[in-house]
Amino acid sequence: MNYDAFFRTQLNGLRQGGNYRVFADLQRHAGSFPRATYHHGRAQAPVTVWCSNDYLGMGQHPAVIEAMHQALDSCGAGAGGTRNIAGTNHYHVLLEQELADLHGTEAALLFNSGYMANWATLSTLAAKLPGCVVLSDEANHASMIEGIRHGRGEKRIFRHNDPADLERHLAALDPDRPKLVAFESVYSMDGDIAPIKALCDVADAYGAMTYLDEVHAVGLYGRHGGGISERDGVARRLTVIEGTLAKAFGVVGGYIAGSAVMCDFVRSFASGFIFTTALPPAVAAGALASIRHLKASSVERALHQHRVALLRRRLDLAGVPHLDNPSHIVPVMVGDPVLCKQISDRLLEQFAIYVQPINHPTVPRGTERLRITPSPLHSEADIDHLAGALAIIWSELNLRHAA
Ligand code: PLP
Repeated sequence: MNYDAFFRTQLNGLRQGGNYRVFADLQRHAGSFPRATYHHGRAQAPVTVWCSNDYLGMGQHPAVIEAMHQALDSCGAGAGGTRNIAGTNHYHVLLEQELADLHGTEAALLFNSGYMANWATLSTLAAKLPGCVVLSDEANHASMIEGIRHGRGEKRIFRHNDPADLERHLAALDPDRPKLVAFESVYSMDGDIAPIKALCDVADAYGAMTYLDEVHAVGLYGRHGGGISERDGVARRLTVIEGTLAKAFGVVGGYIAGSAVMCDFVRSFASGFIFTTALPPAVAAGALASIRHLKASSVERALHQHRVALLRRRLDLAGVPHLDNPSHIVPVMVGDPVLCKQISDRLLEQFAIYVQPINHPTVPRGTERLRITPSPLHSEADIDHLAGALAIIWSELNLRHAA
């Protein structure tokens, strides 16, 4: 077989469908979030980034950077091994204690990313609990789907955010079988929010465990940044809360929080925890500083919500269609992959604005969009510039305006 020819044909298929991904070569500038330098061949240009998941700019916060410098200078670069083999560092221990405190749980367990936390935990629970059935929200993230698939148990998909449909599935199952209900709090593409309490009520009634992905909510919601489960006062209802250190906390890494015995079980049986080198101590120190800051300060959260509301109002005035949702994610709907890329290219080239097009398979075909994530550090002038740029592009390309 000509392997390269095969790869080329597959990639050409993506190009023809408008789904080939091009990553902009960007250099972030500590201290001037959300500005970056766009490297284009030999040319360079300053741009404003409007699609970062560093939702609060914490990746460049002085307290985070200082903590990382200190840990780097005192501990060096790497962790030195897996957690089992010389890789557990005092910063890991402190960070797990901080995460447990954030969610009001007995314990927490670190992973190298949110993806790994989902993949390793869901696969381990599904595989190890005899006869376990996983009930998965139909809009769950790829990392959850892959984890559940790797667990090789029975899986049932319930309708998105629908407790009645979850109940229909649970009622049909043998009451004695172990069950795990897996869902997210903030869904990252549509920005809608799960009815956590109602889903927990149904799960409890049928003796099922609950697994909540709070990746797009930790740091952003709740009085201490504990996510939607903190905001809604339901954190104690969940068996597992999973989160990331990479988005609102601005660094990298993932975790689960829950009972001490559950975390110990996953620590002891999950291959994706056991057999990989631990996070560098400086990364753990940065995440620790970020969580501590956002636990004590709500300034960033309040300003974040203000900026999101302001952008929505400006888009409404400009007639640019966006999904109405109760979160911080502003999806501007386009519905065509080629057009979506074209708008993104124009924003970059004509207006020095970077917003990545979101195409299949990240979203279903026909729902292609620009996913805009305002931060507390985008100024009102930035918001006016973005809304103005989109209004011009919408007219130039003769796109459908919002009613
Ligand atoms: N869960 C959800 C819902 C996500 O959207 C993502 C990533 O975007 C992840 C998990 C993975 O988190 P991480 O980026 O920390 O690997």
